Amino acid sequence: MQEDSPVQNENTPDTSQTTPSQRTGRRNRLIVLAAAALVALGLGGVAVATSGTDHPAPAAVSLDAQARAEAASRADRSVRESSTPVTPSLSPTPSPSAVSASPTPTKTAAAKAKPKPKPKKTTKPTPAWVDPMPGAAVTSCYGQRWGTLHAGIDLALPSGTPIRAAAAGTVTQAGDASDGYGNSVFIDHGNGYLTHYAHQSRIAVTVGQAVKAGQVIGYEGATGDATGPHLHFEVHQGMWNQIDPAPFMRSRGVNLGC
Ligand SMILES: [Zn+2]
Repeated sequence: MQEDSPVQNENTPDTSQTTPSQRTGRRNRLIVLAAAALVALGLGGVAVATSGTDHPAPAAVSLDAQARAEAASRADRSVRESSTPVTPSLSPTPSPSAVSASPTPTKTAAAKAKPKPKPKKTTKPTPAWVDPMPGAAVTSCYGQRWGTLHAGIDLALPSGTPIRAAAAGTVTQAGDASDGYGNSVFIDHGNGYLTHYAHQSRIAVTVGQAVKAGQVIGYEGATGDATGPHLHFEVHQGMWNQIDPAPFMRSRGVNLGC
């Protein structure tokens, strides 16, 4: 009865009607009784647990806490004693506080710092050897053709396509020598190898000129003995000692397709 009156007093100012307040009173009474029963059960359970096994539960807790403290102190000691190798695995405990203290500025700083060094890496040096006419279709490879040696590779693109020096060197011949090659250019690469570019419609370099890899030396054509516009590309291991350009160029990172 004493429990009812304060509960009802709390509810009555909200609702003037008698029935809902009485209902809530009953509900509250039930809740109080249930709570009391639960408390009783809980105490009983605790009592049973404590009576059954004397003091093991609190003792275990204290031992566990002691063990943790000892382990922590041992870990700290090991960190201090063996400094460098063990530090990363055992140090995470102090670091989270530092991270949580200033997470956003460090992350943004790292994000801002990362993209900056990337453009520095992208500065690629020009490769030593390049494709003399990139994207061209191979119309003939090095080898025997119609009973004679075809001493180069034929690369075809529309007439006037720029022809590029396969590597750095010096122009040793530039012009039409009336030998069937039409307008042709020789570049001496200074390592015992020369490259030869034949049938050009127009030559863009002069004898003695130093050229870089990839530099335009002329334009594709059909001068000399040519049935159609194409670049006849040769590699000479010593002047007029033509070798197969395909493996030579492939070993230098350029695939001419033969
Ligand atoms: Zn050819």
